[in-house]
Amino acid sequence: MSEQQSFDLIVIGAGSGGVRLARMSAAKGAKVAVVESRYLGGTCVNVGCVPKKLFVYGAHAGEDIEDAAGYGWHVPEDQVRFDWARLVANKNAEIDRLNGIYARMLDNAGVTVINGTATLSDANTVMVNDQAYTAKHITVATGSWPSIPDIPGKECVLSSNEMFYLPQLPRQAVIWGGGYIAVEFAGILAGLGVETTLLYRGELFLRGFDGDVRRFMATEMEKKGVNLKFGVNIESVENIDTHYHVRLTDGTRLTTGLVMAATGRKALVEGLGLEALGVEMTQSGHIAVDDHFQTSVPSITALGDVIGTPQLTPVALGQGMVLSRRLFGDGQGDMDYSSIPTAVFCQPNIGTVGLTEEEAREAGHSLRIYRSEFKPMKHTLSGRDERALMKLVVDDKSDQVLGAHMVGPEAGEITQGLAVAIKAGATKAQFDSTLGIHPTSAEEFVTMREPVG
Ligand code: NDP
Repeated sequence: MSEQQSFDLIVIGAGSGGVRLARMSAAKGAKVAVVESRYLGGTCVNVGCVPKKLFVYGAHAGEDIEDAAGYGWHVPEDQVRFDWARLVANKNAEIDRLNGIYARMLDNAGVTVINGTATLSDANTVMVNDQAYTAKHITVATGSWPSIPDIPGKECVLSSNEMFYLPQLPRQAVIWGGGYIAVEFAGILAGLGVETTLLYRGELFLRGFDGDVRRFMATEMEKKGVNLKFGVNIESVENIDTHYHVRLTDGTRLTTGLVMAATGRKALVEGLGLEALGVEMTQSGHIAVDDHFQTSVPSITALGDVIGTPQLTPVALGQGMVLSRRLFGDGQGDMDYSSIPTAVFCQPNIGTVGLTEEEAREAGHSLRIYRSEFKPMKHTLSGRDERALMKLVVDDKSDQVLGAHMVGPEAGEITQGLAVAIKAGATKAQFDSTLGIHPTSAEEFVTMREPVG
């Protein structure tokens, strides 16, 4: 065992939150190390946001090619081919490039990267590859991992992790779950020509999103050929040769070429040795922290997916900034979780910020609802049967816009700007006095005049 190295801060996990914390802390003069057992950039860069969005572009390109015909392009159907291996290889090259950028970023910031699996042997010591590293502060930023329900045949069910490296696309696929990852992958697979069935245990998928968005999305996805089955769950999966036999709770069976679970993600804490140190956990298996990311052990903090806050990269980045100020800066600033904008990159996209109609009613607001549904201009000539939805949830008394929701092309891009207005407390009158940008879909958000409810 070589000589022990000491740091001001050791961050366990080089994902979005961990890297941001490490870099910001090093910039404030702290001596920082980050321990990583897999890949730099965490879920987002390697098996999440980035490759997913590249796949979404890939899937959508098929529609763009079809849509071009309405604009005068001659696109002989029998000459259009899709090469999955090429998409995966190109995606992998991009991820490699980003891994390199992360390595250089950390190096330039003066952060020591330690490759290996970390275990805490005491409240200030991290063991990696039999080497001890000590630090005044240790932050656990180990993220989360797909969680697959314990059913017979679980071992032949894939998670999103494996989907990014599939050797080939199946002809048919079953997607299990009704959240972000399920609808995004349903859009990707269906867009790439896979016969896709999405199974969700509840009455309607995307629980927590605005009811109008959920219903609208179901219609749009079905139009794109996704077979939606709600109110059923998977009881078991059996792999026979190249096929998977799926038994459902309603007694029916399906045969498919692949089963992917998108049934949530659990905190990655195994093997860290937190329990032995008395680090408290929540009932859901996340590390319990206070508003300042402090665990029950004074030298140990935690942030990101592992603490059970919304599992979103910008949340982890924000937490990293706040925590670095707390540990090595002026200690000012709190993480603000209000009105977190988010997009689901299903097809078409969902963009949402602020309260849903259901949440606003439950909170006791009396509401005015503005809603617009239309065919995006692009599809007047493409002939595609795709519609867009926009919705504003407005407090009747104060006129404040409490929430904005959209289904349609570039919903994420559009919602980011709206999020500033909603965060600033904009009123409907201020939306109305804002001129539209014509012709866009986004202008609907400032031209909806008559409430529908
Ligand atoms: P979600 O929590 O979004 O959805 C999980 C889904 O699985 C829900 O529909 C849930 O049903 C269902 N489910 C959970 N347990 C079971 C079970 N035992 N049997 C059957 N169904 C079950 O998780 P995801 O895995 O989709 O994504 C994880 C997180 O990652 C998201 O919450 C999001 O924060 C983040 N993410 C963000 C993205 C983005 O910003 N675009 C993209 C992808 C992920 P029910 O609703 O009934 O509980």
